[in-house]
Amino acid sequence: MSAYFDFCREYKAGAIADSLRRGLSALNLERAVKSGDRVLLKPNLIMAKAPELAITTHPEVVRAVAMVLNDYGARLYLGDSPGFGSLDSCLEKSGLKTVMGEMGITKASFSDECTIHEPENLVAKKLTLATAAIDYDKIINLPKLKTHSMMGSTLAVKNLFGFIPGLRKAKWHLRAGHDRQLFARMMLDIYKQVAPAWNFIDGIVALEGEGPTSGQPRHCGLLALSADAPVLDSLVEKWIGCPEITPLSQEAQNIGWLPEEKLFVCGPAAETPLSPAIKPAKGASQAAFPGQRFWRRVFVRRPLVSRSRCHRCQVCVQHCPAQAMELIDDKIVIDYKRCIRCYCCQELCPYGAVRVGYGLLSF
Ligand code: SF4
Ligand code: SF4
Repeated sequence: MSAYFDFCREYKAGAIADSLRRGLSALNLERAVKSGDRVLLKPNLIMAKAPELAITTHPEVVRAVAMVLNDYGARLYLGDSPGFGSLDSCLEKSGLKTVMGEMGITKASFSDECTIHEPENLVAKKLTLATAAIDYDKIINLPKLKTHSMMGSTLAVKNLFGFIPGLRKAKWHLRAGHDRQLFARMMLDIYKQVAPAWNFIDGIVALEGEGPTSGQPRHCGLLALSADAPVLDSLVEKWIGCPEITPLSQEAQNIGWLPEEKLFVCGPAAETPLSPAIKPAKGASQAAFPGQRFWRRVFVRRPLVSRSRCHRCQVCVQHCPAQAMELIDDKIVIDYKRCIRCYCCQELCPYGAVRVGYGLLSF
């Protein structure tokens, strides 16, 4: 078996830890972490949001993982490079700061960079990552189950994008432009380099609709574990009923990382997929128009700013990789000819003021 799916009704650390122990045993991963190992926990900390909004990894999941790893005698660290805001504010708001204090977890810095030359990579032959990616004996990946306007879903592989330091994330978006397959291949390069010892997805309460930050919480009751992130993502996407294969799973399949013999899941939730299926993000199905520039411009959904919700904070302006946004006459204006439809503005807007909609009338 490659993955273990369990049901967990609520965020109770004891029950989550028990589920994790069962999964590690079922997948023969109990020896992946040894006594004395320096272990980095990598949750989803995209921005400073409260746990009940289902945007960040829930603190009780982190507590449960720490309980298990403390039993192994590991030394624990936790960090991320948030898309917006400081790590400290994210830790505080997400509830992780309290858990870290109680469980003896040290904050890990993601500000130092290292550059790795890897000629065998699919796209990123030269890859600049936070040194945290190579500084620890083991990395444990703790993604949140969410839909994603650009990539369909954000699960284990996408969660590792946090190893791209700060503003370099925007450069990646700019390099990939409209090309989601290219962006997916870049993600797989990061995964290959980071190579988490295991990946444990928090899907007890997921985010559906306009993920990864403007969707609605949805109780799914899922905990999903695997040492193989692309396989885990593919299996979870099927379990939640993604309407089409995501660019990441498509590319993983194209390069032979999803062989049939690996796509088997065990555990109490294995045979009971989510019903009804998850509500996808509106922008997620754009891969249906590959390479057709005109049709992309007509049909591909575009970011739209709500004037009533917008606080003119200009976070979107500062982070737009294509520099397509500007504050003009007290209003955010988007140059759609420059816009690469990465939806970083929707992802990072702290007030949920950006939605994704059809752009037919604007071109
Ligand atoms: S759209 Fe959002 S991020 Fe941009 S200025 Fe308005 S509130 Fe800030
Ligand atoms: S306007 Fe929004 S979707 Fe367009 S390039 Fe900028 S951040 Fe990306």
